[in-house]
Amino acid sequence: MDSALRMSDAGVPDRENALHHGVAIKTIRRWRRDYQRRGKPRGQLHCTAVCPLCEDGDLDASAYGELLGWYLGDGHISSGRRGVFNLHIYNDDQYVLDNHRIQNLMRRVKIGGRPHTRVVPGCVITTVSWKHWPCLFPQHGPGKKHERAIVLEDWQRRAVEAHPADFLRGLFHSDGCRVMNSTWRQVAGAPKCYRYPRWQFTNHSADIRELCCWALDLAEVAWRQSSSVTIRVSRREAVARLDELVGSKA
Ligand SMILES: [Zn+2]
Repeated sequence: MDSALRMSDAGVPDRENALHHGVAIKTIRRWRRDYQRRGKPRGQLHCTAVCPLCEDGDLDASAYGELLGWYLGDGHISSGRRGVFNLHIYNDDQYVLDNHRIQNLMRRVKIGGRPHTRVVPGCVITTVSWKHWPCLFPQHGPGKKHERAIVLEDWQRRAVEAHPADFLRGLFHSDGCRVMNSTWRQVAGAPKCYRYPRWQFTNHSADIRELCCWALDLAEVAWRQSSSVTIRVSRREAVARLDELVGSKA
């Protein structure tokens, strides 16, 4: 227990701490609570994260660009107690590395933040709380994203312009997929099957699709609209370029 409390004091997230010590997360939390009740400071250290918008904090624009992509794809902000907001990113539980990555992005944007995860069937919800999430994601508002306007502020556009690949990575790893397409062609009189990969991005918000196309243009990746809600990248060199920029979902 002492070792777990020491790690907690050092800022190790509860989840990692629990894994390291082979106990449940709630056990770690209970240990911290017990100490706090006795007036001991264990696990009470808060790194105060400084907001880059309303205070003079620094913005890691690369991490922010990707987190913005994830937020627009599958994120949600809820309001918690005492003016604190929770940023939740939902992702398929099969993408273990991506789910770790989301936690890292959150820590880079909210320095000292302690994201935690909750698993629901088929999905991992990664959450971190902060009073300043509405400053960083002014698109936060009531209702579904596709039922309201999603317009980036100038500083957000500048972050994406500086890091379009990061933004695309967030978008394509949340609401995109890389699929194998196959077509049959006649070759020397015999049918031959050709298989080739393509990326597609599906989102019900026209504004978010437009942002995706804008970032693809910035990164010089050719795209086309393939259905009312889907953007497709299928030219061979464009697929290769997007593979290089965003990597595969993992
Ligand atoms: Zn703020």
